[in-house]
Amino acid sequence: MDDDNTSKAMVVPGMPGATSPRADALGRAALVRTMALAAGLGGASAVVAFTHLRAMAGPAGGRVPWWVLAGCFGLAEVLVFHIEMRREAVSFSLSEVPLTLALFFASPLGLVVGRLVGEAVLLAVYERQQVRKILTNLAVFLAECTTALTVFHALPGNHDLARPISWAAAAAAVVAADAVGLAVVIIVMRWHGAPVEPARMAMTNLVTAVSNIGLAVLAAVLLHTNPSAAALLLLLTAIFVVAYRGYSALSRRYSNLQLLYEFTRLVSGSKGPEIMLASMLKETRRLLRADAAAIVTVGGGDPISLWLGPDDDIARQRPLPIEGLARLVAAGHAVVIDRHERDDDRRALLEALGATDCIIAPLVEASQAIGVLVVADRETAVSTFDADDARIFETLANHAGMALENGRLIDRLHEQARQREHEALHDGLTELPNRAHFLARLGAAVITARTGSTKVGVALLDLDHFKEVNDTLGHHHGDLLLREVAIRLRSTLPPSVALARLGGDEFALFTEEEASPGELTELGHRIQNSFMHPFWVDGLGLEVGVSIGFALYPDHGVDPAMLMQRADVAMYDAKASSTNRIEIYDPARDVNSPRRLALATDLRAAIEARDLTLCYQPKARMRDGVIHSVEALVRWRHPLYGNVPPDDFVPLAERTGLIHPFTDFIVEHGVQQLRSWTDSGLDLGMSLNLSMRNLLDASLPARIEGILAVTGIAPAKITFEVTETSVMAEPDKTLRVLHGLADLGVRLSIDDFGTGHSSLAYLQRLPVHEVKIDKSFVFAIAADRSARAIVQSIIHLAHNLELVVVAEGIEDEATWNALQRLDCDDAQGYYLSRPIPAADIIEWLTARGLGGHRVDGGLGRTGDCTARTTPTR
Ligand code: C2E
Ligand code: MG
Ligand code: MG
Repeated sequence: MDDDNTSKAMVVPGMPGATSPRADALGRAALVRTMALAAGLGGASAVVAFTHLRAMAGPAGGRVPWWVLAGCFGLAEVLVFHIEMRREAVSFSLSEVPLTLALFFASPLGLVVGRLVGEAVLLAVYERQQVRKILTNLAVFLAECTTALTVFHALPGNHDLARPISWAAAAAAVVAADAVGLAVVIIVMRWHGAPVEPARMAMTNLVTAVSNIGLAVLAAVLLHTNPSAAALLLLLTAIFVVAYRGYSALSRRYSNLQLLYEFTRLVSGSKGPEIMLASMLKETRRLLRADAAAIVTVGGGDPISLWLGPDDDIARQRPLPIEGLARLVAAGHAVVIDRHERDDDRRALLEALGATDCIIAPLVEASQAIGVLVVADRETAVSTFDADDARIFETLANHAGMALENGRLIDRLHEQARQREHEALHDGLTELPNRAHFLARLGAAVITARTGSTKVGVALLDLDHFKEVNDTLGHHHGDLLLREVAIRLRSTLPPSVALARLGGDEFALFTEEEASPGELTELGHRIQNSFMHPFWVDGLGLEVGVSIGFALYPDHGVDPAMLMQRADVAMYDAKASSTNRIEIYDPARDVNSPRRLALATDLRAAIEARDLTLCYQPKARMRDGVIHSVEALVRWRHPLYGNVPPDDFVPLAERTGLIHPFTDFIVEHGVQQLRSWTDSGLDLGMSLNLSMRNLLDASLPARIEGILAVTGIAPAKITFEVTETSVMAEPDKTLRVLHGLADLGVRLSIDDFGTGHSSLAYLQRLPVHEVKIDKSFVFAIAADRSARAIVQSIIHLAHNLELVVVAEGIEDEATWNALQRLDCDDAQGYYLSRPIPAADIIEWLTARGLGGHRVDGGLGRTGDCTARTTPTR
């Protein structure tokens, strides 16, 4: 007895093929124990047989020769019946029939010899078992025979077929023999680690044994009474066998149909190939009542190799002889290798699979062979796979191939849909969420904040000087830079901050956690700091800045669109400001707020009515204190709001398209004023401010040329002040306008110098004549050594570039003296004079002597037209 069970009338799972070294060792140990048990059992039985058999009485019912018995035993083992009971296959042979008959009709020795010879021939020729296995099995059969004989002869009844007590004795003897065989099977299965249910096995065994014995006794009685009844018996048996065959074919077909139906339902409902295949293997294994199933694919997508063993574990690494298997089914049909296989190659495949029997079917996807489906180790040991199984298995494999194809198709569609969704919601360059995605998420965050009465901070980020990178290094580098910026931003921001790229060099974020203006500013600084280090693109360290505008829910807007618009306003302010690159939305500065819109309308009216005025702030030459020039500064006295500071309404004019008539008015007005002063004998120059949008207006130089021509003022007397930021906004266009102006002969000055990003070296490319150091440095100069150092180097470098240096915002003597020591050329500031009305200029100058020598700081008797910041809300 070995891996194969020859137990009759039992549901016995086959022994799983040992795979791991540990399992191998266990298998070997079990084998040794099995052989020892068989040897012991066989030896003991032989002793009993030799000592007792001769003493046993011969049969009562006549003598049947041993060779007839041998044929009967062999035939009984071959005639195996399979009956399906509640999804379980019960297989049984008729081996109790010859044993029972032999008790009545054969000598004890004839019984033993007949059984051993019959079984030996069967095992060797039909089952092709190894000698070791045959001997083991024969030892068990010997034990069964001696048990049967011993029990039969020990019981009363005189073997008289006419006495029912003899029937009972025969039944007890055969059941006892079966019990010995079953006990051995159970012990051996346990040793091999196979699952055993002794009670159930014993029960099934008993039922089939009793029915076989009943049949045999009936036949024996009949034969004993009238031997010619043998013909009748043979006829009935033949009819039974034929009927059984018919029944089994029918039930097989029915269950196969059911298998197919269930299988199709299963595979068509599965999700992805892997999941589908795993459950498909389970189902295949169950449906074909096998212990193992495997699938191996080599084409049609990622290779798959799955082995599902009896323990329900899926093995992915198990080496399977795919080439041999594929070759076997190359013709396109399933092939059975049963346990009686004689072909060496096929047996080698079985060995490689570690299986006792198997069916292999080709797996075809889109009419291409892509692998094989295997089902191995038929559960019921006495039966093996046959042609019917192969046919149904082939159909299953066809379904599997189709399901695999569909599964892959569905997976591809899912993947494509997922990709399309990702693409629809993400920016292809940086992989950050795009505008649509961002707005949707912001919408959700706003709803959450509304329910929880919390705040949400939204920011728009715009890179400074990105265009220069794009223009000078090309779009490829621009793209790489954007990618780097995205990475830097993402790593700088905490995970609770959602980041997106809106397009171009514009990014956006919102804070999912509660935000306060203080926290937002801090976040802004953190971002700014992360931009302090250059971005490395193709070995180039690129420096870019970022302007950030924040808006807060619910303070500045209650929906995503409004919040974005407000953040945009704040960002624009940050960009326009020369000092502050982080702004939180301020309704007072928003041209779009209703009050600002009203103000814009009023500004238009004021320009048309020439209701704006100009004040003039004197500029002195530091070397000798001579006042040689003034800066014209616009003033607007609003009928309702009083003085509106230029810092408030100039950006308003810029964004409402009023900047052109506004600038035309200022220039005309200022130059006419200069004309009248010149006519009065004052030799003064005049500085006029231009804003960012003026520099984008290609027609500006021509208009200014017209004004200068009409008034007859020498262009050299006029200086136009432009800020660094306005020049840098769109350098290509602004440069053209700047050259246009310079060509007129007017002077150009860079206002608020030091707050922007341009280097002095860059100024060399601009047609400028003057730099005006920003007040913030000048304010700090007396107290702060580093501010002094910066101013000193600006002056030094500007002089090297032959530029005139003006310091604005000088408010005291100490600063004046400090700048004088630093060799600054010109000075402007409250220390000298606040901006004063035109009418007061002559008086102011006269008070200091028309020669222009500086006397004291302060206003003297002149009027003060300092632009006061008035609340404009
Ligand atoms: P800006 O061109 O830099 O003008 C200098 C500003 O500094 C003026 O403010 C002036 O009043 C102020 N200022 C001068 N000396 C001192 C000082 O010692 N201490 C302090 N704290 N401030 C001093 P204002 O008049 O309010 O003008 C602000 C800005 O508005 C100007 O800055 C300029 O950018 C813009 N602006 C003024 N008038 C015009 C104009 O006619 N056209 C354009 N486009 N912009 C103008
Ligand atoms: Mg200025
Ligand atoms: Mg300035």
